[in-house]
Amino acid sequence: MTSPRIVRSRAELQTYLREERRMGNSVGFVPTMGALHEGHAALLRKASVENKVTVLSIFVNPKQFGPKEDLAKYPRTFEADLKIAAESGVACIFYPSVEDMYPKDFRTEVKVKELGEVLCGAFRPGHFDGVTTVVLLLLNLVMADNAYFGMKDFQQLTILRRMALDLAHPTCIIAVPTVREGDGLAMSSRNRYLDARGRDVARAVPQSLAAAAKLFLAGETSAKALCAAARRVLSDAGLEPQYLELRSTSTLSEVVTVDEDAVLAVAQFVETPTTPCRLIDNVVFSKEAELQQILRDLISRSK
Ligand code: AMP
Repeated sequence: MTSPRIVRSRAELQTYLREERRMGNSVGFVPTMGALHEGHAALLRKASVENKVTVLSIFVNPKQFGPKEDLAKYPRTFEADLKIAAESGVACIFYPSVEDMYPKDFRTEVKVKELGEVLCGAFRPGHFDGVTTVVLLLLNLVMADNAYFGMKDFQQLTILRRMALDLAHPTCIIAVPTVREGDGLAMSSRNRYLDARGRDVARAVPQSLAAAAKLFLAGETSAKALCAAARRVLSDAGLEPQYLELRSTSTLSEVVTVDEDAVLAVAQFVETPTTPCRLIDNVVFSKEAELQQILRDLISRSK
């Protein structure tokens, strides 16, 4: 296990990558905000298997946080991240400063229309413009062969796929299934805000998706019925979601019956001793065997 090289500036990153390219090495890229966990590690391991070198970026992007959101409080755990990166085969960590990413004359904003206005976008105005701006900048800096994103942030993945396609970006966007705790809770850097009670309540989120998944696998295709089953589990746990909706995986438009791939997406606030913790999660309803296996796995964890 070799320790990853840490590069702190755009210029240093490009020097490093020029040398890797000269040697003919393929490059995999995993952009993150740090506070790494097993979910990030799954992306890093996949990148390391599929590419000669893996570049991890750690950058808490101020442009994707709203004025009332947790930017200052976002967990920063560089030493622990370094250990996970080394164990996951990362060759290089790009760890830039805000000033290096956004010099004072920076004026550009990247926007994918419509897709960023529904689901999370309806409650976090401008969030996805911040995501697309930083991710396109990072993709341009790294010019990787492959870049890896988690299905946990399904709307983000859909928007980034659209952006890469529309703007003919040469990097291949690769989706990685959500990594979950034993009881089904999707791993997230924000889970560390939950106390024991909040952690217990949070289980209802994957359980609600599992209830809908069970119905889907039994042949139910009505969005109304699938959403109602999920909602019932949340309300039994005393929860009311910020949103819970079934949408097309490609266009994010609302779905009435599942006749092509659809995503059931949920956002749920869970109380903590300090500020409420916002959790997001989703499941994909599809005829594809691999995606159905993911549903069965979630159902068995959520019992
Ligand atoms: P973040 O650091 O939260 O911006 O996440 C960086 C990347 O890790 C994104 O592509 C996320 O979708 C992905 N990710 C976060 N949590 C998980 C998870 N539980 N399973 C799979 N991917 C994840």
